[in-house]
Amino acid sequence: MEKIAVIGGGIIGMTLANYLDTSKFEVTLFDAKEGQATRASAGIISPWLSKRRNKQWYQLAKDGAAFFPKLIQDLALDDSIYKQSGTLIFRTKEALEDLAALAEERKKEAPEIGDISLLSAEETAKALPLLKPTPSLFVSGGGRLDGHAYLSHLAARLEQKRVQVVSERVQLRKKATQWLVSGTFGHKSFDRVILAPGPSLKPLLEEIGICADIRPQKGQLIVFQTPYLHSQEWPVAMLEGEADFIPFNNGTILVGATHENDARWDLAPTEAAYQQLIQNTAPFLTDSDQLATWTHTMRVGTRAYTSDFAPFFAPVPEEPTLIAASGLGSSGLTTGPYIGYLIADYLNTGTWRGEHYQKPIGTYLSRI
Ligand SMILES: Cc1cc2nc3c(=O)[nH]c(=O)nc-3n(C[C@H](O)[C@H](O)[C@H](O)COP(=O)(O)OP(=O)(O)OC[C@H]3O[C@@H](n4cnc5c(N)ncnc54)[C@H](O)[C@@H]3O)c2cc1C
Repeated sequence: MEKIAVIGGGIIGMTLANYLDTSKFEVTLFDAKEGQATRASAGIISPWLSKRRNKQWYQLAKDGAAFFPKLIQDLALDDSIYKQSGTLIFRTKEALEDLAALAEERKKEAPEIGDISLLSAEETAKALPLLKPTPSLFVSGGGRLDGHAYLSHLAARLEQKRVQVVSERVQLRKKATQWLVSGTFGHKSFDRVILAPGPSLKPLLEEIGICADIRPQKGQLIVFQTPYLHSQEWPVAMLEGEADFIPFNNGTILVGATHENDARWDLAPTEAAYQQLIQNTAPFLTDSDQLATWTHTMRVGTRAYTSDFAPFFAPVPEEPTLIAASGLGSSGLTTGPYIGYLIADYLNTGTWRGEHYQKPIGTYLSRI
């Protein structure tokens, strides 16, 4: 049986391991669980109104969002993990009208956007009563994914599929036609390796003489525990500026997230990030003094991004038995499950359907 190693147990690695055909492959997943972006993420799935001009990225994000109904069914996700809660978007009045027109245009190719409505101040406050009455745009197809709960759920499914999970940081080396994965357990030999280690792709590939255009970006968010135990009924609010308001289950509300390019691998929560997120959110709340009365913790993760902020996922040039996937940036919860599925589908069937979503992988990888 062909032996496959997956290095990285974030949203890409865990999804693809769940979709791999274990009647064909013996699969081992290695995960260091450090700095993981998936576990730290805010959870917003609502890519359609992004102003990004990269058409390949938009196609990937759109198809990634459209993939969710299949994902929910295939992996038996319940409402506590993913909920199509709808999204409220806040902009100036003219900008909201432009966005509504863009939404109608994009809906022609992306019916999963759902209903699009410009809400009055009163209607917005009714949809999410903690917010100041302000006009907004509502799209019913938006949702939120609990990255932590998703990974725990998928880990339990991997046990049933008899995928071996090894929780430690590993190194990679090539020996003749085989790949050697090394850790405290010694060495294990594999026919193929899938690299899904987020920003650690760069140091991992350097070990085998390949330079990757990948950088770490620190992201912090606040997890509030509020008394609003029916919070799961509320939509996600994408506020103006660097703060979004994401209600989850049983009173948990996230406010985030920062994008810190200079902090690199640092995982320490900072008071400055807390203050910045509060300052950005407070003007949108009816009673911003409430924020100080809710208990909170900070969550920190490291995103991976490339020079053009686009992800890549494909076989490595001149190394067809090695597949690399990284650079998902701020939208990896939206694109990650679909990327994981496309890679698994390639391994299961031999058909590669990932090409038109990205530039050639040689754009991001070069020999040292
Ligand atoms: C604060 C924050 C908020 C976010 N909010 C959103 C959002 O609202 N919507 C959205 O779509 N996206 C969001 N994102 C982005 C999204 O979370 C990421 O793009 C996505 O989770 C990346 O998934 P991944 O599988 O590539 O990497 P990760 O989730 O980072 O997983 C990589 C794993 O590989 C492991 N690893 C690395 N090197 C090794 C090694 N040598 N050996 C073994 N294991 C290794 C790491 O420890 C880690 O567990 C957010 C990210 C952050 C940080």
